[in-house]
Order: sequence, then structure tokens, then C-alpha cells
Amino acid sequence: MKFDLKFDNSDILEIGSIFCIGSNYSKHIREMGGVKPENPVIFLKPRAAYLENGGTIKIPEFSNLCHHELELVVIIGEHCSNINKNDAYKYIAGYAVGIDVTLRDIQNIAKQKGQPWAVAKGFVTSAPISMVVSSSHFNNQIPYFDLLLSVNGELRQKANTSEMERSVAELIEYLSKVFTLNRGDCIFTGTPEGVGQIKSGDKLLAELVGFTKLEINVE
Ligand code: MG
Repeated sequence: MKFDLKFDNSDILEIGSIFCIGSNYSKHIREMGGVKPENPVIFLKPRAAYLENGGTIKIPEFSNLCHHELELVVIIGEHCSNINKNDAYKYIAGYAVGIDVTLRDIQNIAKQKGQPWAVAKGFVTSAPISMVVSSSHFNNQIPYFDLLLSVNGELRQKANTSEMERSVAELIEYLSKVFTLNRGDCIFTGTPEGVGQIKSGDKLLAELVGFTKLEINVE
């Protein structure tokens, strides 16, 4: 089904809210000319933005600059509210690799005008997410992952999630206080440096190294 997240143990979870974190890797903050935010930068994508493995990004005709942002995606397994970061692992169903597809020209105009990013970040097909690796593999720990993204075979982004400014546990603590989190919710945890343009005909390959891959085309 259109909104189903598929797990490596054959579980299926219907996707809920898609939360995204901005400015969470220091080198990416620098490449965008920003500074580390005092509080987490949060935005959302609609569920209809979800694109499963093998799918095709459709760049809207009103944009001339579409960027890839490689990110670890955390999938929530049960409702939580006001939790402490030390308990965050209990609420994680699994991990995936995703691409926060961004209309950078539209986002830049929104930034200049102080307007929201919903169009730049939330258009249909803007949230490709891989098969989900079940958290049961990781013994009550929140592991660090190596992430890779190549476009047409050329490496574009590479990072380890230990480089994040705010950890997965800290992000879950924060989101659970502000919004509550629910089964099927996804958290895009921010991109490392190396964001760049994608164009019609490109083939993207993102990896949660050793665990799962995400292959996506661009129309
Ligand atoms: Mg992002």
C-alpha cells in the first residue's frame, strides 16, 4: 500500500507523521552559511511525500534547483510523550536511510521572506525511505550508522551518525515533549555535508552501510 513501511523482518507499519530535523551536522551547517541553532530546527512533510524503494522523484516544474539530502530515518514503534533521552531506545521500531529531497531555490526564497518550507520540503515524492531495519537487531542500544549516497555512481555524501550535533535520543526526547510521537512516525535526522543538485534521469543510491539500500530514480 502507498503508506506502508516495510521491515526486514516482514513487519509492515503504516507511516504516520514525518518529522525532519534541520542543521544537525556541523559541516553541513557551515556549507549552508548558518550557525548551530539553540533549539532543534523542526519541519514536517505530509505522508503523501513518502516514496518507497525503487520509486521515482518527480521534480515540480516550478523549481530549477532540486537537492539531495542523505539522512538516517528513525521509525517510532509506540506512542510516547515527555520521555527522557535515556528511555528513547524503547520507542524505536527501526532505522532506515532516506533522502530529504529539497527544492533549494524555493526554500531560499521562503527563507528570505520568513515563510514556511512546506512546498520546498514536502512536495509529493520528497521523502524516499528504504526498507526498515528492525531495532531488535541492536540490543536496547541506539547504534551509530555509516551513511553513503551516490548519484549515477559518483559518491556525493558520506558520514557516520555519531557526527550528529543532537543525538537520536535527544531528538526523540525533544519531539516527544513538543508533539508526542506515535507508532509509524518517522524522523529524518538531518543531513551531513555534500548536498547537491539532482536532475531528470539521475539514479540515486543511498545506503545504511551493512544493513539496507535505497535506489531511487529522478523523472
Ligand atoms: Mg534535511
